[in-house]
Amino acid sequence: MKRPVFAANWKLNHGPQEARAFLQRFSGLVAPRADRTFVFFPPAISLAVTGFALRERPEILVGVQNIHWEDKGAFTGENSAPIARDAGAKIVLVGHSERRQLFGETDEMTSKKVAAAYRAGLTAMLCVGERLEERERNTTQAVVVRQVKAGISRLEPSQLASIAIAYEPVWAIGTGRTAKPEDATAVHSAIRRTLKEALGSKATEIPILYGGTVNAENVAELLASPEVDGVLVGGASLDADGWARIVQT
Ligand code: PEP
Repeated sequence: MKRPVFAANWKLNHGPQEARAFLQRFSGLVAPRADRTFVFFPPAISLAVTGFALRERPEILVGVQNIHWEDKGAFTGENSAPIARDAGAKIVLVGHSERRQLFGETDEMTSKKVAAAYRAGLTAMLCVGERLEERERNTTQAVVVRQVKAGISRLEPSQLASIAIAYEPVWAIGTGRTAKPEDATAVHSAIRRTLKEALGSKATEIPILYGGTVNAENVAELLASPEVDGVLVGGASLDADGWARIVQT
């Protein structure tokens, strides 16, 4: 069995001082565990503090929530993959639905961002997911498969082997609604088939996480599906005690 991945997306929360306090508390509550992987995506400005606070915990991955696809240049306000790596990131979240919906990120941009992450020696967690109207039109799998194919389109197979995918139905993010485990399982299976077309049997190793109002009440049921390899969590990852309980589920 793959080690389940517990990834915290702090979005626009926890500046450096709050991040430091959170991680001191979290580290005291959660000992290193060989049977699961922990990832934190703090705001970029809290990245260095997060890495420093976790310096005794090298098994915990730290990443950024977004990058520009260019490595450097006149792009005021942006962060790049080489800069994120320099600041301690190992992984980049790409294509989160808030980036797609609120900041106009397209499939083409996600593919360029995923490629930029790998060019800098980082890995990526590619987020995909359908909007409510797409689910109601029965186009969920078509949308998600299109997003996966676009997002991985610039990767070599050797790079693709280390990617992670997060399936996050847009209608379930921060809304209190969550997909039924059987719905998540069906979409995860479609994602797995798509990855196999690109990578063959090695695609079975790629973690496919579920995200969308995951909390202490539903996490065990979601992780019980053999197709769900982990969870990407926003709101319920913001409190150190609550997140410590969830990751030890
Ligand atoms: C997310 O931000 O990726 C997410 C799933 O948020 P929430 O858990 O708050 O729905």
